[in-house]
Amino acid sequence: RASREKAEAQEITYTTDGARIEVFANLGKGAEEAASAVAFGAEGCGLLRTEFLFMERETPPSEDEQRAAYQAIAEALQHRPFILRTFDIGADKPVAYLSFPPEDNPQLGLRGIRAGLEWPQLLTTQLKAAASVTPFGCCRILLPMITALPELRAIRALLSQICADANLPIPPLGVMIETPSSALLADQLIAEADFLSIGTNDLTQYTLAIDRTHATLSKQLDALHPAVLRLIAKTAEAANAAGKIAAICGGLAADPAAVPVLIGLGVKELSMPAPAIPRVKALIRALHIETCRALAAEALACDSAEAVRALLQKEHLS
Ligand code: PEP
Ligand code: MG
Repeated sequence: RASREKAEAQEITYTTDGARIEVFANLGKGAEEAASAVAFGAEGCGLLRTEFLFMERETPPSEDEQRAAYQAIAEALQHRPFILRTFDIGADKPVAYLSFPPEDNPQLGLRGIRAGLEWPQLLTTQLKAAASVTPFGCCRILLPMITALPELRAIRALLSQICADANLPIPPLGVMIETPSSALLADQLIAEADFLSIGTNDLTQYTLAIDRTHATLSKQLDALHPAVLRLIAKTAEAANAAGKIAAICGGLAADPAAVPVLIGLGVKELSMPAPAIPRVKALIRALHIETCRALAAEALACDSAEAVRALLQKEHLS
């Protein structure tokens, strides 16, 4: 069965009733990892965590170094879609060459796009490198930790200026939905963003008010919590109404129990660690959209993550 799953993983995926679901890989190491993701059946990269280039060093990576790293990944992906997330440093990902203010709650502090806006030169260098990846259009830029439209507008203005100066086309620009604020404002954000990608790890942390690095409480973090599911539903609805994509790139996308619910909520693209791809693709091929929708409606009405898990377990057995 495993070898059949592996062979079928190279093919694009439809539900039994013909809904196309795209399956991408999350990357955070470089070109070799990208090549291996393609072998696992990735249709592209749904999330490149570019922090890997910025951490554990004394100085930030230069524009040339970044361009070479991103271009190598684009080539390893053989020009499949490649979503590059701007650096999400800060919180649990500190870097030595930036002086962060003292923070009692780093998860609520200077991280993601906030760090990009605090050190615009660092972000400008990264945007220049990302915008020059060829072929144009394959590399799309994704912004972490957005909470509202003014942040997206600030980055779009910066990116437009960079591309005008360098005579480059403006790459598609998307935002991560990983704060409750951005999920609640998804309709506003999608009006100006080209796509959305839901980061369920942080969305769960901020919705449930549990630090994802907390030694004991983090065990209670379950992205199938109905409050998180309602935020995902709102985001998917907003994107679908605008005729654009809301993907999931957090850990929930790789949870087999969650996949039918996510598809039922209107999600059409999942991005996950590459080794999870064959199993998730096989699972999608056995799903029926109407059944997924009914299941999602039931999950949204549950009163706890445990109740959602029990519902999905029951579904699996029936
Ligand atoms: C997320 O928050 O779900 C996400 C994909 O980003 P990261 O795990 O890198 O914070
Ligand atoms: Mg995140």
